[in-house]
Amino acid sequence: MQYKKVKNGVQMINYISTRDDSIRISSAEAVLNGLAADGGLYVPEDLEALKLDYKEVIAKDYRGMAKMIFNKFFPDYGEERIDAIVERSYENKFTAPEITPVAKVADGFVMELYHGPTCAFKDVALSALPNLMTVARDMTGFTDEILILTATSGDTGSAALHGFSDVPGTSIIVFYPDGGVSETQKLQMVTQSGKNTCVCAVKGNFDDAQSGVKKLFTEIPQPAEGVSLSSANSINIGRLVPQIVYYFAAYKALLESGEIELGDKVNFTVPTGNFGDIMAGYFALKMGLPIEKLICASNKNDVLTEFLATGHYDKRRTFFKTTSPSMDILVSSNLERLLYYVCGLENNKKYMKALAECGEYQISAEELAAIQEVFVGVACDDEKGAEAIGKVYAEDKYLMDTHTAIAWCAFEEFRASDDPAAGLPNVTLSTASPYKFTRAVIDALGETEEVADEDNMKKLEAVTGVPVTGPLADIFSKEICHKDVIECADMKAYVIGKASK
Ligand SMILES: *Cc1c(COP(=O)(O)O)cnc(C)c1O
Repeated sequence: MQYKKVKNGVQMINYISTRDDSIRISSAEAVLNGLAADGGLYVPEDLEALKLDYKEVIAKDYRGMAKMIFNKFFPDYGEERIDAIVERSYENKFTAPEITPVAKVADGFVMELYHGPTCAFKDVALSALPNLMTVARDMTGFTDEILILTATSGDTGSAALHGFSDVPGTSIIVFYPDGGVSETQKLQMVTQSGKNTCVCAVKGNFDDAQSGVKKLFTEIPQPAEGVSLSSANSINIGRLVPQIVYYFAAYKALLESGEIELGDKVNFTVPTGNFGDIMAGYFALKMGLPIEKLICASNKNDVLTEFLATGHYDKRRTFFKTTSPSMDILVSSNLERLLYYVCGLENNKKYMKALAECGEYQISAEELAAIQEVFVGVACDDEKGAEAIGKVYAEDKYLMDTHTAIAWCAFEEFRASDDPAAGLPNVTLSTASPYKFTRAVIDALGETEEVADEDNMKKLEAVTGVPVTGPLADIFSKEICHKDVIECADMKAYVIGKASK
């Protein structure tokens, strides 16, 4: 176990590592640790124990739903602490009163997850994670400073920086792929103030940054005296659980607008990278929400599409930079949680070993069939995504970002398939504001004239009449506070250097 200083050891031991079920810790410890020392991810041991009556959940407002779901996953916190955490996390942070509003678009639904402080869905979870973590620290009597190490494909970085900025007892280092994020995403990170924040580009892609960070958890869990590492990536169970809530919220919204009746099954289409958002959907289903299919949308980096069709995961393939950079990922960490539940601990270990040593693994036909009962993979390239942005805007005056557009295409492709579930109501998750990917969105609308990035926002606003998402409006005039760029090989020394200060 990574943390030995736990004092008032909380008795409810129900989290295990996906690679070692002799590690048994409380949810507070799982949130604090982030990643298990053996490289596995923490999961609640017993999925059955998470079941609840979804009708009771959707009778509540967003915060009420969050409280019920948090209490299931984090029982050792106790209801009183969870109440306070949820209130603090969602008070005045989101510009939409519903937190995650659902729009009717053509013959589908789009749930907008980007009305938080950094305009991507990561805000929903990263509003809560710092609160979950600081309370866990108090509960367990843990005294070390918590150093959050985060690899980002673009949006986790700014959401985590915002969430942890000036939170006492914590500091944060964000690594992003140099040249691998949009201009707005980069500016959001490098202009983030806060004495405890640090942002650094690494010369590599997101997978390089993520595997570098994961390695540091086993190599230097305590990079300096009195400092312990934790994670704000979706490998942390505290990141995943807040994302379960909006699946319930979407169901409630469809019910209240008369689009479905109680008990009707619905599909969700999720633009996927690290498999965190869609894994939250799987938890929602296992908790009892009437979900039929989870459609896993990928861009040209289609490793998950192949896996969900064949059971063969093969990361040895060309890495493509696309206009949906937050999905440019070849090693989807959270898939390990699904494998643990479907294939069991021993097989998961075998597959993860093969992935690390050979870059590939093959699950059995029975395991694949079990996964396919819920998951469908569809990949769409940049061109198809751009077409969707143009078409949906022209026909429905609805503006989507590049990630949402990939999911929209995947939904349309699935709907046209002969799958028996193809005709069910579908909610497409919209993961970012179109203003985070302005250049690509403007291109998709057919406005190809080259203008400075700064002017693109004004132009998109002028062309569409859709106002710039609030927090992004002044991003180009903010002071740049972070300029570091390093080689991947230097991440360890960089972290030790920062931790020692
Ligand atoms: C992070 C991100 C995704 C991918 O989500 P995962 O949980 O990593 O699968 C999709 N879209 C956007 C805009 C993101 O920021």
